[in-house]
Amino acid sequence: MSNRRVAIAGFMHETNTFAPAKAFYEDFVKGGGHMAMSRGEEIIARSRGANLGVAGALEFAGEADWQVLPVIWAGAVPSAHVTRDAYERIATEIIDGIVKAGPLDGIYLDLHGAMVCEHVNDGEGELLARLRAAVGDDVPISVSLDLHGNTTRLMMEKADVMVAYRTYPHVDMTKTGYRAARQLQRLMDGDMLFKAFRTIPYLIPISWQCTEMEPCHSIYARLGALETLDVSSLSFMPGFPAADFDECGATVLGYGLTQAAADAAVDDLAALVNASESAFAGKVYTPDEGVKEAMRIARSAQKPVVIADTQDNPGAGGNSDTTGMLRALVANDAQNAALGLMYDPVAALAAHASGVGSTIHLALGGHSHIEGDSPFVEEFTVEALSNGRFEVHGPYYGHSEMDLGPSACLRIGGVRVAVASHKVQMADQGLFRYLGIEPKEEAILVNKSSVHFRADFAPIAETILVCAAPGPMAVDPATLHWQHLKKGIRLSPNGPAFV
Ligand SMILES: [Zn+2]
Repeated sequence: MSNRRVAIAGFMHETNTFAPAKAFYEDFVKGGGHMAMSRGEEIIARSRGANLGVAGALEFAGEADWQVLPVIWAGAVPSAHVTRDAYERIATEIIDGIVKAGPLDGIYLDLHGAMVCEHVNDGEGELLARLRAAVGDDVPISVSLDLHGNTTRLMMEKADVMVAYRTYPHVDMTKTGYRAARQLQRLMDGDMLFKAFRTIPYLIPISWQCTEMEPCHSIYARLGALETLDVSSLSFMPGFPAADFDECGATVLGYGLTQAAADAAVDDLAALVNASESAFAGKVYTPDEGVKEAMRIARSAQKPVVIADTQDNPGAGGNSDTTGMLRALVANDAQNAALGLMYDPVAALAAHASGVGSTIHLALGGHSHIEGDSPFVEEFTVEALSNGRFEVHGPYYGHSEMDLGPSACLRIGGVRVAVASHKVQMADQGLFRYLGIEPKEEAILVNKSSVHFRADFAPIAETILVCAAPGPMAVDPATLHWQHLKKGIRLSPNGPAFV
């Protein structure tokens, strides 16, 4: 049957409960790098070509000739808790809009899975529970999720099917939305999907969740092989190990045409994840060691050495303004080095007021009151200015319009810093280029990102080093001050248990 009536909405936030800033309604209005808050037909127009779950669901909808009823899509940059005000306004608009769009054959939601609010620990579970209560049990609900979602029992219970990304860097967001829509089609056509769900007994640091490295590479290969005729959808979610609530952690979720098929698939995959615990590990440098190692490699390299400033990743709750890596570059007199993006609207405006070619005294970055971090007070030369509006086309953002506000390239010695007025993760070479920095011509690049940068930077990198400068996204979750986790869960692979 064609012309299925399907309501579509999105609400995405990855909450690092240890991060310095909360997510306010205005942050959702502005958006999180991919798309600003959009309603109705705007969702269709703006998401076209972007790397987003909703874009893939709309692609499937077009092929299947659905009558799409777009409600609202809202996402903000990862940060600390979503405010009660933001959550209630957006959740209410989603549910009221979906109810008003009825009668419906199905509902697709583009969610993250790691949302924690001021007043609700399980943002997605609460939203799904309210939606289920509003539409009843007969309308199937399909959800696409980020690989970093901390899936909860309530989410499993209230959604008919949930499908997560399989890549980190997330280059398959669109594909995942398409998959979730295909699952919804099966449900609307009358298939019954049985659910299975397993939790993993240890937290997985995000730096070692990269699917281009082991053990995730093998785990996702196995996942693909386990999706057979009887297993409609299988997901492994390494989770987001910086959300302090009792269901934080990695999960495996599956949907089968029989309960036995679903159970067998998730048991197989969960056993592989459990057996892989020791393999979730890698080398982490201090800023000083990392810069020295990068300078040593750069002497004989043809391509830039790329350093991940992983603990200040704004895609995981960092404010993108810590100064530890900048200090290490300057202290070691690194040459032909660039760092980005430094989020500092005050410094960017000062650079605009001062003009290209001028020298200014600045307290750059370090404004987030992170333990061990502070502003870097120095003289900088203003090398380039931009209004921050440009497009990127790399594999992570897809075709996306950036609006980073007043921006500046500041030089100190052999180091250039890309300074912006809005936060966005350094996951596209275009985020250096718009300020006149050609990444391929640099000896050392420092990227405020944990893993997403690899999609666009690995092809141009001599090698990639991971450095831990003081910042809010702990490379080792065992170092965080947890209070609410499930008792007994290990805080890192083979690490101490939470008691
Ligand atoms: Zn993610």
